[in-house]
Amino acid sequence: MAHQRVRITKTTLQVRVALQKVQELFPLLSNHIQESAAMSPAGVENSSGAMSAHSTTDDLFCHFDRTGRFVLAAAPSLTIRRGLDNRLMRISIDTTHREDLKWFGRRRSYHDFSDVEKSDFYRAVYIEALTVLRHEQEASPSNGERKLQEPAKYGPATLTEWGERLARWTPAALAKDEVDFKATYKPISILPPDQYRTLVIQVAEGCSYNQCLFCDFYRDRRFHVKSPVELATHLDAVKAFFGPRLHDRTGIFLGDGNALVVSADRLQVAIKQIQAAFGPKTDFTQADSSPVKPGPDSSHPIASFATFMDTFNLDKKSIEALHTLREEGIDTVYVGLESGYDPIRSFLKKPGPASEALAAIRTLKEAGYTVGPIVMIGVGDIRDADAHFEHTVLLLEEANLTPSDKIFLSPFVQPAHGEYRDATERYGITPYTQDQIEREMMRWKDTLSKVTRAKVTGYYVREHIY
Ligand code: SF4
Repeated sequence: MAHQRVRITKTTLQVRVALQKVQELFPLLSNHIQESAAMSPAGVENSSGAMSAHSTTDDLFCHFDRTGRFVLAAAPSLTIRRGLDNRLMRISIDTTHREDLKWFGRRRSYHDFSDVEKSDFYRAVYIEALTVLRHEQEASPSNGERKLQEPAKYGPATLTEWGERLARWTPAALAKDEVDFKATYKPISILPPDQYRTLVIQVAEGCSYNQCLFCDFYRDRRFHVKSPVELATHLDAVKAFFGPRLHDRTGIFLGDGNALVVSADRLQVAIKQIQAAFGPKTDFTQADSSPVKPGPDSSHPIASFATFMDTFNLDKKSIEALHTLREEGIDTVYVGLESGYDPIRSFLKKPGPASEALAAIRTLKEAGYTVGPIVMIGVGDIRDADAHFEHTVLLLEEANLTPSDKIFLSPFVQPAHGEYRDATERYGITPYTQDQIEREMMRWKDTLSKVTRAKVTGYYVREHIY
C-alpha cells in the first residue's frame, strides 16, 4: 500500500506522481517544493484519497473525474483545483508563519492560472499521470486489464480504459468547458464551501437586494426569477453540460443569492420541475453510470436541496410556507448573518437589526431546517472587534443551533467595487491587518465551539471554485 501509485474510486482516478517531475515541466510549482518540506499535510483537505495517508513531500496526488478531466492535485500545504468552467486555482497554506494559529488561522495565498499556465500545467500533469499508468500497466500481470482496488462499478475499470480516457483531454479540449459552462450558467459567484459538489440550479439570478457594502457577487446582473419555461431550458442545458458527471454531484443547490425569497408557490413548481428532470429520489452519488432518466413519480424529494437566504425577507414567508418547502425537500439554508452588532450591520448596509436576524434563524429552525449562519471576521473597524465578537457570539448562543448546523467564519475580503473602501475613508474606519484577522479567526472558533452545539468551520470566499 505504501507504494501504491494508482487508485480507482467510485468516481475518480487518483494518480500519485512525483512533484518534481511536474515542476520540471511546469516551473511555477518550483517554490512549493522547498516550502512543502517543512509543512503539515493540511493541503489535502479536499482530497478524498486514502493514498494521502502515505503522502510524502515529494508526491503530488492528481485526481481525475469519471470522464478523465483533471479536477484536483494535492501535496502537503498545496492544492490546485479545477472548476467546471476550466478555472484553475492554486491554494497554498503557509505553515511556517505563526505556528500558534494552527491550520484554521493559517495564512493562505491564491493564484488564478492564466490560459498559458493552464495549458502548461495540464500538459505536465497528463504526461506524468499517463507515464505512471503505463508503468503500472507494464507491471500488471494482465497488461493493464487488472481491475484495481474496489470494483469500479461507476466508471472505467481498467488501467487501459483510464489511459484512453485521460489521453482525450488536451488543453484545448479542457478549455472548451469554459465555453459550454458560460452557455449553461450565469457565473456561480459564490457557494458555501460544503456545497461545491452539488448541482447548482439557478431558479433565480442575482440577489433581490444586491446592496450589501461588502458584497460584489451579483453586481453584474439584475434579480430575475426564471419562469417555468426558462427553468425547463436551463435544466436541459445543465443535463447536457454535466452528462455522466451528474452522478458525481451530491444534491441540488438553488441559486443565486437568496432563492428562498422566491414565492413558495413558484418554488414548489420549480422543485417539481427539477425532480422531473433528474428523478424524484435522485441521489447522484448512489446512481450507477446509466443516463439520468426523468422520474415518473415526484412524490419523493431529491435527497437534498440547499439555498442561501438573507435575514430580512424571511418574515414575508409564513411558517406554513416554510414547513411546506421543507417537506418538498429544501433542507439546508445558509444565512448571511455577517454580524450580531447593529452598528456594523448598518455600516455594511445589511437591512434590519440583529434581533430580526436572530428571529429569522429561529424561525428556520422551528420549521425544521438545517441552518448555516455566515459571520464575517475582520469586517469594519478593528476598534469594534470586541463588540462585533461579543454581540454575535451571544446571538448565536441564543439561536438554538443543533449539531447538524454549521457556523461559517468568513475572513473579510475587499470587494472588487470601490464602495467599501470609500466608506472606510468616509467614516474613518481603521481596518484589521491580515495578522489580526487570522488571530480573530482562532478566537471566534475557540469560543463558538464551546458555547454552541453547531460545528464551526471556515468560509474562505477566495477559495470558491465550482
Ligand atoms: S443579501 Fe447576500 S447576496 Fe444580497 S447583497 Fe447582501 S450579501 Fe450579497
